[in-house]
Amino acid sequence: MSDLTEVGDRDGWRCWLCDEPVDPDASVNADRGPSVDSGPVPKGKKGGAGVERLAHRACNTRKGKIAPVVPWSPDLFVVDPAPIVATVDRLGRKGGQEVVARCPSRSDADEAAAWLVDRLSRFAPDLAVTTHIEPGGGQFLLLLRAG
Ligand SMILES: [Zn+2]
Repeated sequence: MSDLTEVGDRDGWRCWLCDEPVDPDASVNADRGPSVDSGPVPKGKKGGAGVERLAHRACNTRKGKIAPVVPWSPDLFVVDPAPIVATVDRLGRKGGQEVVARCPSRSDADEAAAWLVDRLSRFAPDLAVTTHIEPGGGQFLLLLRAG
């Protein structure tokens, strides 16, 4: 069990689930207060402990009950966005590529791709991903590729 301050400093006092800042001085009993989440379990390590990550207490508590949700930015124009946590999990285990969203225009797709890569650099720093945009059906498909 790592020290909260140590985990917070390493994660830059940002919640790994919702990507919002965490106040290091907030009470650990407050919803928006800091807590240490067990983080993702590395592949091949069934039942093992993951790398500890900083999360808001409320985000961490929610995660214990249902699958964690990493929201897409509401500023993006994406249609049928894929659940980020499940997609990252699959790509981490199996590799390959998946369509993660459809966008009405090329610039929307470029924006969504840039956002996603930036978001994943904090959410799943160990997973190397690239994005690809393919026109299809009058829209633009955003693909996420592992490796
Ligand atoms: Zn949070």
